[in-house]
Amino acid sequence: MFNVQDIRKDFPILSRKVNGKPLVYFDNAATSQTPKQVIDAIADYYSNYNANIHRGVHTLSQEATDLYEQSRETIRAHFNAKFTHEIIFTSGTTHGINLVANGFSSLLKQGDEIIVSALEHHSNIVPWQMLCERTGPVLKVIPMNEEGELLMDEFDNLLSKNTKLVFVNHISNALGTINPIEHIIEKAHAVGAAVLIDGAQSCPHIKPDVQKLDVDFYVASAHKMCGPTGVGILYGKEEWLKKLPPYQGGGEMIAEVTFEKTTYADLPHKFEAGTPNICGGIVFGTAIDYMNQIGFDAIANYENELLHYATEKLLEIEGLKIYGTSPQKTSVISFNLEGIHPYDVGTILDKMGIAVRTGHHCAQPIMDFYKIPGTVRASFAFYNTKEEIDALVEGVKKAKMMLS
Ligand SMILES: *Cc1c(COP(=O)(O)O)cnc(C)c1O
Repeated sequence: MFNVQDIRKDFPILSRKVNGKPLVYFDNAATSQTPKQVIDAIADYYSNYNANIHRGVHTLSQEATDLYEQSRETIRAHFNAKFTHEIIFTSGTTHGINLVANGFSSLLKQGDEIIVSALEHHSNIVPWQMLCERTGPVLKVIPMNEEGELLMDEFDNLLSKNTKLVFVNHISNALGTINPIEHIIEKAHAVGAAVLIDGAQSCPHIKPDVQKLDVDFYVASAHKMCGPTGVGILYGKEEWLKKLPPYQGGGEMIAEVTFEKTTYADLPHKFEAGTPNICGGIVFGTAIDYMNQIGFDAIANYENELLHYATEKLLEIEGLKIYGTSPQKTSVISFNLEGIHPYDVGTILDKMGIAVRTGHHCAQPIMDFYKIPGTVRASFAFYNTKEEIDALVEGVKKAKMMLS
């Protein structure tokens, strides 16, 4: 049974005060909070297993290696990848996208086309622009509508035999829109293009099945799903990971090194140069276990309830406009008060202990579409409550009074 008060006891930070008020943490789309199960696992690692992995014959090194590889297997099972070596540890979503974009440099040529969406985070735009500058493919953009949804008819028109790669996020971090990725993957595959899905914002809310999706690449960050910062995964189909060249050179990713020639290690090590975030990799598995134990269906149901409650309450405030109104969305509300800068609203909310994000949310093209400098973004997680939403609504009303 889902009991939010019990769940909140797992998160020590939720009982602290900010500016003399109980913390209301609504910046979950930027990073999630950490349950004590994960905090304890971090302490356990440094207290008992800290050693470099894959190298030592000594016991500590072997124990750390076993835990790291067990976590990779936990992550494989969570995403339902076919093989454990299809899970590459990265430093996060940004790293995973750069790894793939760099790899495609050697596979693309002038005249090839790659497709992005209007709803992307900068980290799923800039690496591809850098790729285009290096290698010469053309970048095309799936446009969006006023509700913050992608225009699928336009996507059909962009696809051709020249399309080599399509990369979109599963869920928009700025608006919360859930994109029709099943449809996008099917259509892209029909013209022979590969698909990368940025799952940074979906993985906190849903459990993706990469085999069922038939997706070629899927990337995520641990810190948005109850894990630590500086660790994430790239899932890639084995055939693609074999085809892509290594990203960084260094230790761990080699089979043999001489000054004449170096041969590379097998998957997944080919893409894991240098000493990784060992503790982070291990406790990423702990975070996934924690979320699965609560259950992604229960999480999605509860967060939907929060989303609808907050949407209704916020819309009662005159002059408040919500950006991103697709019926297909997760618990993210981006909004503005008429004539008031989002930064000012955020500052007043902070004085009341309410943490929201203000600004362009690393998605400037979306803000340009709406012709606004940014929004106030409240993003809810399964440990938030309706009482906290009431506090937000009161805070926004107060901000409006003070600023108009
Ligand atoms: C947070 C986020 C990213 C970037 O993730 P990092 O952990 O900073 O690498 C990329 N895309 C989306 C949709 C995000 O929400």
